[in-house]
Amino acid sequence: PFELKGKTVYLAGHRGMVGSALARRLAQEEVRLVTVERNEIDLRDQAKVFGWFAKTRPQVIFLAAAKVGGIVANNALRAEFLYDNIAIATNVIHAAHLNGVEKLMFLGSSCIYPKLAPQPLREDSVLTGPLEPTNEPYAIAKIAGIKMVEAYRRQYGSDFISVMPSNLYGPGDNYRYEYSHVVAALIRRFHEATVSGAKRVLVWGTGTPCREFLYVDDMADACVHLMKTFSGAELINIGTGEDITIAEFARLVAEIVGYQGEIAFDASRPDGTPRKLLDVSRLAELGWHAKTSLKDGIQQAYHAFLTLGED
Ligand code: GDP
Repeated sequence: PFELKGKTVYLAGHRGMVGSALARRLAQEEVRLVTVERNEIDLRDQAKVFGWFAKTRPQVIFLAAAKVGGIVANNALRAEFLYDNIAIATNVIHAAHLNGVEKLMFLGSSCIYPKLAPQPLREDSVLTGPLEPTNEPYAIAKIAGIKMVEAYRRQYGSDFISVMPSNLYGPGDNYRYEYSHVVAALIRRFHEATVSGAKRVLVWGTGTPCREFLYVDDMADACVHLMKTFSGAELINIGTGEDITIAEFARLVAEIVGYQGEIAFDASRPDGTPRKLLDVSRLAELGWHAKTSLKDGIQQAYHAFLTLGED
């Protein structure tokens, strides 16, 4: 196993939902955690990144920095999703190589798999078919990152690894109306409907797509586990192994939030990919499984949402 203890660990993207969960989880490890603010080092700026690495000399990297968003953001900001995510991946991964970083973990996404790949999605189905068009730019950038990890491992023997989480949610999620992911969007919409006494809430799409949701603190725990125990060129999926239709999911969120009105579907909004359940058998073989049930996770996410305004 890889020893984290005593190491200088750079957490890239510590302000994001995943990064802040990783920071909470890494606080339980005996490491020297380093982070840097975006206004100090913009990870898209190669010269700044290289300079900072040479000065800071991290030994271990969790690369959780990315431009992310829901189905509308991915589709509308296509240039930004490509440019920002490719720049972040190439700058940080190459800087890790130049500075002899001992181990790096790159965080990908389940949207890298072909739209119509067999379900549950196995890691080896990457690049076997066309991507879901709404998030193709994000997926292409993440695939570039994965291929860098693979190439640096093969050419230079770097101990770089890649993990692919399913749809993540939890504290620190973004609740902006158009650009959020479905979990944050529905928590907010049902909450606001409950407060205002609205009798009808619209859910995007047909309600028939299926999604697998992973609580972000479970994701962070899996990342630390894999950092310590896994080394290899294979991708590793991180998920729960279970999915749910958007319609069922909406009912669950409504129940947790206490919304009792009608739930209607707005089919003029995109469904995205019909299903993206991850095959988590590799992860299970590596000794990890998700601990937080969807109901508990949504309850905790809702609680975090409610305390947002109180800060
Ligand atoms: P995706 O997994 O990349 O498609 O990301 P999203 O979390 O944005 O969307 C997941 C599914 O939830 C899609 O089928 C959406 O159409 C559906 N959905 C339903 N209501 C909403 C909403 O208010 N916001 C978002 N983002 N998605 C929604």
